[in-house]
Amino acid sequence: MRTSQLPGFYKVTVAERRTLMSEATGVDPSEIASALDAGGLSAETADKFVENVLGTYGLPYGVTLNVRVNGQDHVVPMVVEEPSVVAAASNAAKMVRAGGGFSAEVDAPLMISQVQLTHVKDAARAHEAILGAKEEILAKANRAVPGLVARGGGARDLEVRTLGEPSDEMIVAHIIVDCRDAMGANLINTIAEGVADRLADLAGGRVGLRILSNLCDKRCVRVRCRVPAQMLATEQMDGQAVIDGIVNASRFAELDPYRAATHNKGIMNGIDAVVIATGNDWRAVEAGAHAFAARSGRYAPLSIWRRDSDFLTGFLELPLALGTVGGTLRVHPSARLSLKMMGVTEASDLAAVAAAVGLASNLAAVRALATDGIQRGHMALHARSVALAAGALGRDVERVAAMIVEARDITIEAARRALQVLSEESREVRTDAREVPAAEA
Ligand code: NAD
Repeated sequence: MRTSQLPGFYKVTVAERRTLMSEATGVDPSEIASALDAGGLSAETADKFVENVLGTYGLPYGVTLNVRVNGQDHVVPMVVEEPSVVAAASNAAKMVRAGGGFSAEVDAPLMISQVQLTHVKDAARAHEAILGAKEEILAKANRAVPGLVARGGGARDLEVRTLGEPSDEMIVAHIIVDCRDAMGANLINTIAEGVADRLADLAGGRVGLRILSNLCDKRCVRVRCRVPAQMLATEQMDGQAVIDGIVNASRFAELDPYRAATHNKGIMNGIDAVVIATGNDWRAVEAGAHAFAARSGRYAPLSIWRRDSDFLTGFLELPLALGTVGGTLRVHPSARLSLKMMGVTEASDLAAVAAAVGLASNLAAVRALATDGIQRGHMALHARSVALAAGALGRDVERVAAMIVEARDITIEAARRALQVLSEESREVRTDAREVPAAEA
């Protein structure tokens, strides 16, 4: 039975955490080491991924704990450079857990292949001709991706849309494709190119662009959670007041696109980190999320929060095209390790967990904003990177961080002054040590 609850995990060393993770997930410690030491990627392998490679670029790889989705526990790998994201998501997931965990529903993995058709003189006749040849087009699409069809996926439907004015002479055909466990971009592009000429013939026009749409709104995830008021309380505020504050924060985002953008950034903090850790395309996910957020014509929050008697309820919906096969996953050992530690093999489960972490990140952010403000917790964790940047090493990192947090001055100058104080103190200790008798020193 997998568990995602590992109390005290944050207090132990990296080596001890790897042992605990191995025990919790059944993944061999040597596999964790080989997939994560040096980021799991050699310069030689990286050279096969992209062009003009000079090396690789490291990012921290952490795990979010306490995540329970549809009754299943998952430790969730997150790759992110921003302090506090992992801690905040773990903490919020613990609050959600007290209300039964996240519940998620995931649409079938349907992606949209777009074929733009130009110089179409009679759009109505083109619609009719294309839709009349639907079975032929779907069969042609399937012939372009035999591997996908063999795995139970393939073309499912055909739609036609007219764009602009009749003088634009432009229509677009959408081939709707079930991509099973793949993200699907390459599969979809292959299909678009495979059917485009025939579509242009049918439309009496010319082939334009042939590419997937990242607004994959037929492949949405919906996640819900229900948090008991007492789990939300802080030292200064009781849980009921925190619920009111979070609902107020939600209403602000619903009424103001300026706030909605930041609200959604808090959601994507969690989602992107999981997307990167699992070798998926975060630009595709970002593009889809924000296009979906603006679908009514006005940019809106992807999640909303409401009160339900003594509970806070959260709801998040967004399109998520994630794969557990194909793309980078074939070759990136860290991405494969992530899926193994999460205990996920199907793309729909990965989407459910990633969205749950997004809702957890969002809860942590709106709770902090509705109570102490974001800076207290955030800057306390940020202080460690500031201490590192000022030149602190080893145990001095925590000491300098504590000193600048205490002084409420989390700047590199303050960290340098704190380092100076520490080095003067240790010089004094060394001088004192020389003065005491050797037996006691
Ligand atoms: P892919 O090209 O690796 O195709 C997936 C492969 O996995 C197929 O050959 C399929 O037959 C096989 N497969 C094995 N088991 C499967 C299963 N259970 N379900 C489904 N397929 C299975 O990858 P892709 O998912 O088509 O494309 C993803 C890549 O495309 C990403 O690297 C992404 O960055 C990139 N991309 C993105 C965009 C965009 O988002 N706009 C554009 C172009 C390329």
